[in-house]
Amino acid sequence: MTLQIAQVNAVEILDSRACPTLAVTLTTNDGTRTRAGVPSGASTGSREAVELRDGDQSRYRGQGVLGAVGHVNDEIAQALAGHTFASAADVDRTLIELDGTDTKHRLGANALVGVSLAAWHLEAALAGTELWQHLAHSAGTEPRLPVPHFNVVNGGAHATNDLDFQEFMLAPLGAPSLAEAVRAGAEVYAQLRARLAAEGHATGLGDEGGFAPAIDRPEDVLQLLVDAITDAGYTPGRDGVAIALDPAASEFRQPDGLYRVAGQALSSDQLIDRYEAIIDRFPVWSIEDGLAEDDWPGWVRMTERLGDRVQIMGDDIFVTNPAIITEAISKKIANSALIKVNQIGTVTETLDAMRICREADYTQMVSHRSGETDDAFIADLVVGTGSGQIKSGAPARGERVAKYNRLIEITAAHPSLPYSLAAS
Ligand code: PEP
Ligand code: MG
Repeated sequence: MTLQIAQVNAVEILDSRACPTLAVTLTTNDGTRTRAGVPSGASTGSREAVELRDGDQSRYRGQGVLGAVGHVNDEIAQALAGHTFASAADVDRTLIELDGTDTKHRLGANALVGVSLAAWHLEAALAGTELWQHLAHSAGTEPRLPVPHFNVVNGGAHATNDLDFQEFMLAPLGAPSLAEAVRAGAEVYAQLRARLAAEGHATGLGDEGGFAPAIDRPEDVLQLLVDAITDAGYTPGRDGVAIALDPAASEFRQPDGLYRVAGQALSSDQLIDRYEAIIDRFPVWSIEDGLAEDDWPGWVRMTERLGDRVQIMGDDIFVTNPAIITEAISKKIANSALIKVNQIGTVTETLDAMRICREADYTQMVSHRSGETDDAFIADLVVGTGSGQIKSGAPARGERVAKYNRLIEITAAHPSLPYSLAAS
């Protein structure tokens, strides 16, 4: 099967934060059409593929993406339209060569990722299979439904409160099925809202649909979560509903190298001590970006000290980059990777990063970005690759639940698909 692309089109649309992004449409000669929406992060790793923004302060505070849209409609369209490709991977290779930079800053990673996502959608459509089945076939992986991680309290770069840790997620590890895990997430979310209101906290939402109360100590948020889990009738812990953290520590590391948490300045080792005390007291099972992306010696010590007790996951430090992940694995940094397609720029490179993690026995979590669209590609990606974990924000707001709802639809149509954290 080949991809005969007739038309390539991009437009500037809005993401979930009122910020411009791209929608890309690919059309074949026979009229098959697929569309992709491009996600965008706020707490980005410095080595992520570079998103192209216009910088024209008279539009969208400089955040416009007309330049990236123009690259898709001109240079990329010229390279793809009227041409035949052996596969979506072949389209990705063409995009990478056309851009010609290591960081994809010439055409823009946002331009490339939109075309890449649409090309994989297109290949699946032409093959007449579901996207997740097609991705499993391409990657040679066993499909599996993931455990969803619901970000129910937002801080850091995703909210205007004083909470330094960015994400507090519910992880319903004890749920017997994807549908029951979603139910647990939604029920605890509702109880959390009631408890916050009862204790006089604001119940306004952050960028990922979680609550953003004016609380600064992470331990106080964790206690609220444990109480809300109990209120909803679940057991806090790995047999019921556990908790995952993404402190996104690069965001609160100071120029002097110290980490500022709730008004205290902590060294790397003091912050690791704090995580240890948190793990002793609360049912936290996973910590993402516990230290800053350039604190590699700290990461080695954190992995040594806590890696047997919790999942130690790299996001800003790894940026879904096969070369960086390979180097980090050789240095025994972390035991798990967060996976975001737009950090590296194409689906092919993302699948490569995921293969490297699998081969090193690193667990993986497929992730949305804080700026999202209704595109649910990541739901199919996590099922097809059998990665076992996904985070897509709160169980609220359309752009977040689009991914969870896609997972529910997949499980309803394919009830025999396994559901668990990782391959058993
Ligand atoms: C994250 O840090 O894991 C995240 C999803 O945030 P952002 O998209 O803002 O990088
Ligand atoms: Mg993160």
